[in-house]
Amino acid sequence: MDIVILPALSDNYIYLARCPTTGAVAVIDPAEAGPVTEALSAKGWGLAAIFNTHHHGDHTGGNRALKAQFGCPVIGARADRARIPEIDIAVEGGDAYQFGTEMVEVIATPGHTSGHLAFYFPAAKTLFCGDTLFSLGCGRLFEGTAGEMWASLSALQRLPGDTLVYCAHEYTLANARFALTIEPENTALAARVEEAQRQRDQGRPTLPTTLATERATNPFLRAGDPGIAARLGMTGAPAVEVFAEIRRRKDHF
Ligand code: ZN
Ligand code: FE
Repeated sequence: MDIVILPALSDNYIYLARCPTTGAVAVIDPAEAGPVTEALSAKGWGLAAIFNTHHHGDHTGGNRALKAQFGCPVIGARADRARIPEIDIAVEGGDAYQFGTEMVEVIATPGHTSGHLAFYFPAAKTLFCGDTLFSLGCGRLFEGTAGEMWASLSALQRLPGDTLVYCAHEYTLANARFALTIEPENTALAARVEEAQRQRDQGRPTLPTTLATERATNPFLRAGDPGIAARLGMTGAPAVEVFAEIRRRKDHF
């Protein structure tokens, strides 16, 4: 898959995924239609599918206009059929959806919203995770429990370390400030923060990240690390409880 990153709204990313074999193009989480139609016309591409990770307006705002222009189906969570504008194809965790030459795997990732999904393109080792996993962070718990979000992050953690992770927001540097309070001595984290700062200074996205990088640096994925539990005064506590405490601290950071 060839991926095009389109900044949108204040800090969203819209992604175009183009199958190099068939030329089919999908958009993931069109916050708005404008940047998508501009990019497509500049490249002379059509649009074959719209994927929504969840129903929030900054992920679905372009659905209506793009579908009207291109006649392509909107793919989203069955649980959010009533909340995703123009949804055509309702999917759920465990489903697969053929796009180009890829069998896209649908992974249920509730927590940020109850119906949140991630889309994994296994041949391209590419993950679109919406507002579930961010670089150095994770989504806020609007409709789910810490237990649900921990299970969702754990499901994503089962993917290969070299998976390219495309998150829906540019939050990395803001997340970094918090992550450093949890693990001030994590050298991999320090290196990642430096890299992200350099990327932003050059006006570039900090994404994609990789699962391996996040495993080494993201405090929310590292809640099972004994060093973090000790630092939070939670030695011996289950990872999900440490995760809940880190999420709580971030909410008040
Ligand atoms: Zn959201
Ligand atoms: Fe969002």
